[in-house]
Amino acid sequence: QKTINKIAAGEVVESPKSVVKELTENAMDAGASTVTVEIKEGGISYIRVTDNGCGIPKEQVKEAFLRHATSKLSQIEDLEHLYTMGFRGEALASIAAVSQVEMTTRTKDEETGTRIEISAGEVKSFQDVACTEGTTVIVRNLFYNVPARRKFLKKPATESGYVSDLMNKLALGHPELSFRYINNGSTMLHTAGNGDAKASVFYVYGKEAATSMMEISFERGDYRLSGLIGKPELSRGNRNYENLFINGRFIKNRIVSSAVENAYKTRIMIGKFPVYVLNLEVDAAQVDVNVHPAKLEVRFKNDDEVYDFFYDAISSAFQDQVL
Ligand code: ADP
Ligand code: MG
Repeated sequence: QKTINKIAAGEVVESPKSVVKELTENAMDAGASTVTVEIKEGGISYIRVTDNGCGIPKEQVKEAFLRHATSKLSQIEDLEHLYTMGFRGEALASIAAVSQVEMTTRTKDEETGTRIEISAGEVKSFQDVACTEGTTVIVRNLFYNVPARRKFLKKPATESGYVSDLMNKLALGHPELSFRYINNGSTMLHTAGNGDAKASVFYVYGKEAATSMMEISFERGDYRLSGLIGKPELSRGNRNYENLFINGRFIKNRIVSSAVENAYKTRIMIGKFPVYVLNLEVDAAQVDVNVHPAKLEVRFKNDDEVYDFFYDAISSAFQDQVL
């Protein structure tokens, strides 16, 4: 059983970044408005994620660490949609199987909170504790019990770079949430969470980028697009500034990327790529689930439709604008 857990953990947990991704998604699912992420040594020795979300009732805390334990079934009707959204009830179990986890949590109805410690999948302590509403998860010594995986971790600076990228994506995709990100004791990012998308761009990419973004809002059929696209002169030398979110989750997709780039094509130089932060709202039925949910990829049911939608959306945004 233990071995199975460790192997299965590899699918969800491959690096500090994937731990942070799962824990921050849980925080957002819990309705948090502020999320703090702290890492040390690239997250290899220490990751903390604190949220002010709904917390976990004492009697459900141990259960939350069991594989396939998800409280989210009731929120979404069928299993396929649930998987699309990344709810599989595996993250906490997987993380706890390959590290030393400490969780402190309290719901608003409880007078005392709960603190649990789990190492390599085994409960080490479980007690009442005074704490504020919400949840803190601390993950120490990732892969300490799986040397073969620990070996594949990169240098702390590289791993923290991946976490920083993720935090930037989260801040860009969720201007309505306040994120604080601390790396080795220094605050790297702290967003206001007031819902202003341009402010998020300002925090992440700086003032020049923020003032060169155009708002976009486009709707057709099952698809609704909103967000910000950079004026052509803002374009950059790589694709790292192309940010696509589908229903609030960061996604990489070749079809969307090429549609947007092609809409820019006559306006930017060869070798330059656009800067954008786009959120697509679409029924989960339009998104294929055959791609591993822990990865950042999705497949659309209808690629041509998606391509045309994005191409037309961006082109019309340019037409509306006096450049
Ligand atoms: P999933 O998110 O797929 O349901 P997880 O293993 O990530 O599975 O979490 C298991 C369960 O633990 C969740 O369904 C949720 O009920 C609870 N949970 C985890 N993290 C939090 C959190 N930060 N706040 C409130 N509940 C949480
Ligand atoms: Mg989860």
